[in-house]
Amino acid sequence: MVKNYINGELVEPVSGKYFDNYDPAEGEVCGVVPDSDSADVNLAVKAALEAFKSWSVTPVEERSDMMMKIASLIERDLGELARAECVDNGKPLTLARTVDIPRAVKNFEFFAHAIHGFASESHSTDNRAINYTLRQPIGVVGAISPWNLPLYLFTWKIAPALITGNTAVAKPSELTPMTAYHLSELCREAGLPKGVLNIVHGYGQKVGRAISQHPDIKAITFTGGTKTGADIASVAAPMFKKLSLELGGKNPNIIFADCNYEEMLNTTVLSSFRNQGEICLCGSRILIEKSIYEKFKKDFAAKVKALKVGDPFEHDTDQGAIVSKEHMEKILSYIQLAKDEGGTILCGGNRIELEGRCKNGWFIEPTLIEGLPYNCRTNREEIFGPVVTLIPFETEEGALMMANSTEYGLASIIWTNNITRAHRAASKLQSGIVWINCWMERDLRTPFGGMKSSGMGREGGMEALRFFTEPKNVCVKL
Ligand code: NAD
Repeated sequence: MVKNYINGELVEPVSGKYFDNYDPAEGEVCGVVPDSDSADVNLAVKAALEAFKSWSVTPVEERSDMMMKIASLIERDLGELARAECVDNGKPLTLARTVDIPRAVKNFEFFAHAIHGFASESHSTDNRAINYTLRQPIGVVGAISPWNLPLYLFTWKIAPALITGNTAVAKPSELTPMTAYHLSELCREAGLPKGVLNIVHGYGQKVGRAISQHPDIKAITFTGGTKTGADIASVAAPMFKKLSLELGGKNPNIIFADCNYEEMLNTTVLSSFRNQGEICLCGSRILIEKSIYEKFKKDFAAKVKALKVGDPFEHDTDQGAIVSKEHMEKILSYIQLAKDEGGTILCGGNRIELEGRCKNGWFIEPTLIEGLPYNCRTNREEIFGPVVTLIPFETEEGALMMANSTEYGLASIIWTNNITRAHRAASKLQSGIVWINCWMERDLRTPFGGMKSSGMGREGGMEALRFFTEPKNVCVKL
């Protein structure tokens, strides 16, 4: 049974209420989640405020050692954590083992090291004064994360928040609570001082909102949908909380005829359907230069049809289950919308009913759609599932115009061997991240985040350390 982690203890929600947690591969209840509310958040904030007094002045070396200890415990429990992620989310076990959980280890290790290279500025003002910047912890910070990469994104927020001397009240998605619960057990085992990290489980409308509204939470890091981000901002901005919002996307994948074709084809299968297409960085609009459109369509469809959708526990499964029944229905409704808008389904398009253990699970065929105008709803709105559209283009200008035509601006992918064009296009694309001839090549030191409705602020590397500290200029007269 999942419990809250407050003031170093694993506790039941104040209300005593729980709701069901589902295994999407079976479509069945697999546990219960605390239905917490503002009473639990209040307790967590109280504990975090108290803990801040000592954690904020704990030597950096000690905080860093603690992060390394937590990292090593996650690594020790990799198998168990990967299994929990797979059951909660529906993703293939192999993906959780090779990507999600190793990245959670790396998040703690990375920030444990990065803090040692975190320097602040100093300005000499003629010979009258010296200004230097202190970067101090903010206080209690709130962290709210989504279900698609549960432990991966949860720790991406917690590690930089804690290493900079803040204490935290964190909320994982209600759909995927298991690995956050396991993390709370590991923090206890590691000896993390009580109240430094508090994890409150439950619904966004109750727990997330209580975090956004709490006057003693001074900064919020959020990853999730654009609508939710706007809701959080509407509550937190008038209270002048620091905000980092990592939101949705509708990422273009632009393929020029002069690319390395085989590499592009194989990577495009991943960038379209990895994690069931439920990665904010997946390329969901594939723009293809007209001269290779027909060839690409044929070759890509053949590869997509060969993907195995199946039991996430099986080693050869490429695509697992969709995280929830509601999300599956949302994706299917977008496939219907695409048909209504005049699109042609090249492959997929349906729910899959598997046999055996997964017979009631929530699976959707990887789906390719063509024949839609670039500015229809299907090509503008985030679907966040195994659905991509193919759109031909004739000129570079035309491709960039279509790529930049949505309200989103998270990530873009460019495939070309023309180096000048690659850099020119990268500079013109309206997105926080541009990949040239690759996808999901991540370096944790780089700024991460989106433009336009894909977010506000950047995380990653020094950007995260800056976000989680308050700069204070000190001016000394000479
Ligand atoms: P979501 O916005 O529904 O939920 C995210 C989190 O916010 C959950 O913990 C939820 O309980 C909480 N929440 C919901 N309503 C809230 C409210 N009113 N106040 C405070 N908290 C609230 O998103 P999701 O469905 O869990 O995740 C999918 C979305 O996340 C997609 O749009 C995807 O693009 C986005 N995402 C973005 C990134 C990124 O880095 N930009 C990464 C992963 C996912």
